[in-house]
Amino acid sequence: MRPEDSLPARASRHVLLKEVGAEGALRMARLSALVIGAGGVGCPAALCLAEAGVRKITLIDADVVEESNLARQILHTPARLGMNKARSACLALQAVNPDTELEAVETWADAEAIARHAQGADIILDCSDNFATRHAANRAALALGRPLVTVSAIRMSLQVAFFDFSRPDAACYACTFPEDDEADVKASQVGVLAPVTGIAGMIAAGEVLKWAAGMPSLAGSMLLLDTLSWQMQRLALARDPACPVCGRR
Ligand SMILES: [Zn+2]
Repeated sequence: MRPEDSLPARASRHVLLKEVGAEGALRMARLSALVIGAGGVGCPAALCLAEAGVRKITLIDADVVEESNLARQILHTPARLGMNKARSACLALQAVNPDTELEAVETWADAEAIARHAQGADIILDCSDNFATRHAANRAALALGRPLVTVSAIRMSLQVAFFDFSRPDAACYACTFPEDDEADVKASQVGVLAPVTGIAGMIAAGEVLKWAAGMPSLAGSMLLLDTLSWQMQRLALARDPACPVCGRR
């Protein structure tokens, strides 16, 4: 049997890509991803992964769906107002792809919860909206040696950073954004253009799929995109030897 014969029809356009092929599509189909946050960024990221047919998606979120979320959190509906966001997102994802195993974790994404649920995941996708969670995800991913994609969207801009902790010399999130930095600006305070969260989530999911297929990815770098000026920058993530989180590895 050829490798592509065991793949569902939804993988067919990926198989055609010479950079992916049947082997890459099989690796995508075996992927298990932990998605932190079922909000503006986490919804489109998880949607893209489920549509692509990954094996498992675990979603962590303690929040409930509110009316103000509906402009951009594309997996939630008015009928699910008040429902936990991870559960609401999994209901939508199940309809999109019944073959992807889904797990809703209805707790706060603190360090312990992230570390516990990251154990069985191949990659961590941090779509949270605050520094505390990003740093907790960073510490958990670093400790487990799991790759971490950190995504944020604010106003008209987005940021996607890929830390590949399978490499011993990888920089960590705290090398660039120190844990004691108090400049945490949230979309809930300054606003965000709804599609920018969607673009951010889709870029991040694309990086996860590329990484799974063994293609070149953003690993080791950070993408900054301003959708007002359409200026884009890709910056190398430099390791800080004095970083209190990863410096003494
Ligand atoms: Zn570091």
